[in-house]
Amino acid sequence: MWVSATHKYPHRLCSVMATSKGAIGDGPVVRVAVGGEHDAGTELLRAARDAATDVRVVAVGSTGADALAPLVLATQHGETAFVPQCPTEHVTTIVGTLENGSLPDAAATVEHDPGATSLPTPPAAIDTTAVLGVGSRHVLGGCGWRAPASVTDYRVSRDGELLVERAIDDPDAARERIADAALRGRGRGDGSTDAPIAGTWTTARETDGEPVVVVNANEADDHARADRLLLESAPLAVLDAALATAHAVDATDVLVYTNDAESLARERVQAAADELAADYDSDIPIQVVAGPDAYTAGEMTMALEAMEGNDRLEARRRPPGPAQYGLYGRPTVIHTPRTFTQVGQALAGDGLGGVPGDPGTRLFTVAGNVDAPATIELSTDATLDDARGAVALDGGFKTACVGGRFGGLTRDLDVPASTSGLRGARLGTNGVIELFDESTCMVALAGRRAKLAREENCGRCVPCREGSKQLVDLLRDVYAGEYQSEMLRELARTMRETSTCEFGQEASRPVTTAMDAFEPEFRAHADGRCPSGSCSHVRS
Ligand code: SF4
Repeated sequence: MWVSATHKYPHRLCSVMATSKGAIGDGPVVRVAVGGEHDAGTELLRAARDAATDVRVVAVGSTGADALAPLVLATQHGETAFVPQCPTEHVTTIVGTLENGSLPDAAATVEHDPGATSLPTPPAAIDTTAVLGVGSRHVLGGCGWRAPASVTDYRVSRDGELLVERAIDDPDAARERIADAALRGRGRGDGSTDAPIAGTWTTARETDGEPVVVVNANEADDHARADRLLLESAPLAVLDAALATAHAVDATDVLVYTNDAESLARERVQAAADELAADYDSDIPIQVVAGPDAYTAGEMTMALEAMEGNDRLEARRRPPGPAQYGLYGRPTVIHTPRTFTQVGQALAGDGLGGVPGDPGTRLFTVAGNVDAPATIELSTDATLDDARGAVALDGGFKTACVGGRFGGLTRDLDVPASTSGLRGARLGTNGVIELFDESTCMVALAGRRAKLAREENCGRCVPCREGSKQLVDLLRDVYAGEYQSEMLRELARTMRETSTCEFGQEASRPVTTAMDAFEPEFRAHADGRCPSGSCSHVRS
């Protein structure tokens, strides 16, 4: 039974109430978003701090919406003014206005609970900030609002009690909650991608050896930004859930693994881990480690190989999976930050919502031919159409690639954001929606993804290594006048059914889904024409 924290930790709650003075929503505060794709926030933060005498100036993480960066928020008395794309020279005016007791002129001003622990969202009618109103902000709620490493702020958002404190007290209840919720893993680097995670927790706990928990945030695909956003903007939500998981499966340590380029994410995770260690007595250490900036290094077993220090990364054959034989042969629970934040929502008892059997929300980074990418959160019972409102597409919509580099291409975004909805539409689930305009050539796009598969595969298994080469060759043949549709489909089927890991199993998906939705374009290229006019090397 999950017992209410208020009764178990009265000393802790009092401590939070005392230290929360001066924290979230208490007194005028200027928040400067530092991180994401733009580092102009650092300069703004310095200027704001130089100008401030009375108001607090707090560095927060990105909201996930590039179009707003650099973003400054000015808050007092339950009202927040949003100043997106803030010039450095303007931030001193914002600070001065707030010090004089007023809110600055802003793109949007929102009234909210003075103690709000999540980013208040401006009304959808305000174009400049409309992106923040797309979907929901449950796991994204702290992004752009709470100081990333402030345990005080994080505790307030959890009504005073960390999830790990509950899990220490009753690990059985934590496991039961996750099993009852039927929560599924998110992201290609997860140990339970698209599948209920409770089974791997049980396996890891019951296997001989000391279990370990791995937070796999290595995502070298620049379009898949959700995990990095969570680590940069809300690392405590990830770490708290990972520590709670560790107690639930009797693990002895937690590792956070990113790719080498993610230095800000590692810095913030380390700062958050240090603050957590200072806040409560933990016997589970957290280590932050970096791996290669390679697409394959995010695959869960290659992630384990990288963490063990192997230079040559190859996917491990399964079974046994990581829950039985993982890091250094230990039982390993490996999830992405996206999954851990859903675990956090479930353990906190926050209503997960979404569809039965696949509850919660799913993060998508909307990218492609757009003005500025945005990471948004959709309930699993929402449809992908909602994502269109988060960005401005350059030109008319032609297609979307859903699911990352090896996602599926579709003309139709009226697809549920659930695992079954995405898979049923032959799309990928890796949290990326790339939008493409009318100038996009589908043959060229499919060819680029096939080349990526040829160049980035680890080389271990024949279907993927040789199949990706043949895929590129067969697409080249289209330009030479020979469109071998059946051979392409048979090759794709072989790769899908016999490759060792998800890389090879999914590598042909952009090609086959492009053929399904845009067959006339393939035939036109074989006839020497590119309908979009973008291929200069088709036969005349
Ligand atoms: S499917 Fe590709 S990436 Fe995976 S093991 Fe085989 S060659 Fe390596």
